[in-house]
Amino acid sequence: MRELLLPLLYLLAAAGFILALKWMSSPATARRGVFAGEIGMLLAVVGTLLRFEVVEYQWILIAFFLGSAIGVPLAYLMPMTAVPQRTAISHAFGALASALIGTAEYYRHTPDQITMVALALEILLGFLTFTASLMAFGKLQEILPTRPITYKGQNIVNLFVFALAFVSAIALIVSPEHTWLFPIFAGLSLLFGILLIVPIGGADMPTVIALLNSYAGLSACAMGFALNNKLLIVAGALDGSSGFILAVIMCKAMNRSFSNVLFGAFGQLQTTTAKATERPVRSAVAEEAAYLLESARSVIIIPGYGMAVAQAQHKLRELADALAKRGVDVRFAIHPVAGRMPGHMNVLLAEADVPYDKLVEMEEINPDFPMTDVALVIGANDVVNPAAKNDSTSPIAGMPILHAYRARTVMVIKRSMNPGFAGIDNDLYYMENTLMLFGDAKAFVGDIIKELSSAARVA
Ligand code: NAP
Repeated sequence: MRELLLPLLYLLAAAGFILALKWMSSPATARRGVFAGEIGMLLAVVGTLLRFEVVEYQWILIAFFLGSAIGVPLAYLMPMTAVPQRTAISHAFGALASALIGTAEYYRHTPDQITMVALALEILLGFLTFTASLMAFGKLQEILPTRPITYKGQNIVNLFVFALAFVSAIALIVSPEHTWLFPIFAGLSLLFGILLIVPIGGADMPTVIALLNSYAGLSACAMGFALNNKLLIVAGALDGSSGFILAVIMCKAMNRSFSNVLFGAFGQLQTTTAKATERPVRSAVAEEAAYLLESARSVIIIPGYGMAVAQAQHKLRELADALAKRGVDVRFAIHPVAGRMPGHMNVLLAEADVPYDKLVEMEEINPDFPMTDVALVIGANDVVNPAAKNDSTSPIAGMPILHAYRARTVMVIKRSMNPGFAGIDNDLYYMENTLMLFGDAKAFVGDIIKELSSAARVA
């Protein structure tokens, strides 16, 4: 009976993981996706408990309560804006678990050379992902300095440490009985994880976290080979490949290469080129903005990082509703890397109950800008910067942008002329059809709503 049940449970669990990934790729089905993943994990745990003759349950129960005591508060107490660091700390735990299981397997029975290949990969990726994820957490939580820390010859030092870890792994594969080498190998892997993150700026962390997700998945996949567990191989491979694909998508959307993210120390630009040029801009107050918005037929709202900082999504939804009531066609344009993590804008707008069909992806909405009366940019900067198209020397050259500049009128809510993530000036602000609305995103949108309702009373 058990022989039949186990493959069935594992098959259903694997199906749950695959469906979870598929459904989580769209906001409309994301909840269903999370549920499918949870069911898959439950089946996997039940299957694994069936697979082994569990001698004592007390350690499993201790781990269960300890994990829940950490996981439940993490899920409920950390705010939405802290999701990147929450993800980083989850990866740290997952990778540590994988590396420790590998360590235990190594010491329990000296493995043969083939198993040692899988164990070496599992332990290398597990330990380096553990320390790298902790560093990423520290930078995102601003416990550690967020700016990239660089020094001359850094890449050579990092490569040297990695090469040492690699060589000790090879030596262990050749002679697994050399137990004295194991702590050196583990230590070098832990050290490399730290060194890997030191030169990367806090703002690049989301891309790095996607990569670390991939490493943790590959470590679990290697663990599957070492433990001869097919479900771990499948789940680890899914995790490894999806994390990698996400990192590629993010790099593409930012027009950056992996090497540039990992070795480029991009965040430094923010401090070095933060000066905006002295050119005249046209600004307006909430009353004028309200008038332009209510007389428009079509409005595209472009949210960015500033909306997240100001937590303006609820006010923005109120504004969209107020305009829709007046017969204005309002849609939201979503750039794949607006904000600081994948899906940042989708998550915040979904939290404010903006209907999914009002969120339109970049490729789909870009052709509509020339027919649009008002493009309302709110706390977005780089994702609407025409320099990406017009200036081949710009740090963001080639990054696909939202074509806000082609709308009849552009209104930009931000607090100052300061640049965004890439640290560069934005020509959009100086265009003839652009009006700057200076202020905090939430407060300014609130003022526009007030103006709209007082205008309605007058009418
Ligand atoms: P951005 O270029 O960083 O610009 C955000 C703007 O928001 C700033 O210019 C800032 O101007 C404004 N702002 C900040 N707080 C505000 C507030 N309280 N009220 C109003 N405005 C506020 O943001 P983005 O256009 O969303 O572009 C995202 C950038 O992050 C891209 O360069 C992307 O490559 C990068 N990135 C994204 C991800 C991802 O996964 N999404 C990952 C890594 C990197 P003021 O200071 O003048 O207000």
